Amino acid sequence: MTSFWKTKTLDELTESEWESLCDHCGKCCLVKLQDEETGKVAYTSVVCKCYNLSDASCNDYRDREEIVNDCVSLNSKNIKSFDWLPSSCAYKLLANGEPLPDWHHLVSGNKNLVHELGVSIKDKAISETSVNVLDIPMTVMKWV
Ligand code: SF4
Ligand code: SF4
Repeated sequence: MTSFWKTKTLDELTESEWESLCDHCGKCCLVKLQDEETGKVAYTSVVCKCYNLSDASCNDYRDREEIVNDCVSLNSKNIKSFDWLPSSCAYKLLANGEPLPDWHHLVSGNKNLVHELGVSIKDKAISETSVNVLDIPMTVMKWV
C-alpha cells in the first residue's frame, strides 16, 4: 500500500483512506467529564453504550450520531476543534503535522499492535450499560 497519509492532506483523502486511518483504540468513545470552570476534560474507564468491547468497534457506526446524541463524526474540517481527542489519535497527529506512530497498523501492518501494546481500551474499559451514572466520576483515569 502506498503511504497516502504522507503524500496527501487530510482534505485530499478518499473516504476509505480516511476510515483506514482509525486505529480502533476506542478512546474517543470513552465517557469524558468536563470541568465547568476550567474546561479541562477527564477521561473515564466507561465506554459508550454502542461500543462493542469484543471487537473494538461501534455497533452502529453508520447511524451513530442519531443513536448517541454527543457522538461526533470527525472530518478534515472539524478535526482541529476536538482538542479532547487522545494524543495517539491518528487524525489528530496528522492534522498537527505529526507522523503516525510505529505501532499504527498502516505503518506496522499489524492491526493488533494497538491492543497488544495497551494503547487501546481493550480489556480496560467497561460499558456504560453496566455502570450507574452516579458512579462515573469515580472511574476517571489516565490513559496511555
Ligand atoms: S481516538 Fe482516533 S484513532 Fe482512536 S478510535 Fe477514535 S478516531 Fe480512531
Ligand atoms: S456511537 Fe459509536 S462511534 Fe459514537 S461514541 Fe458511541 S461507540 Fe463511539
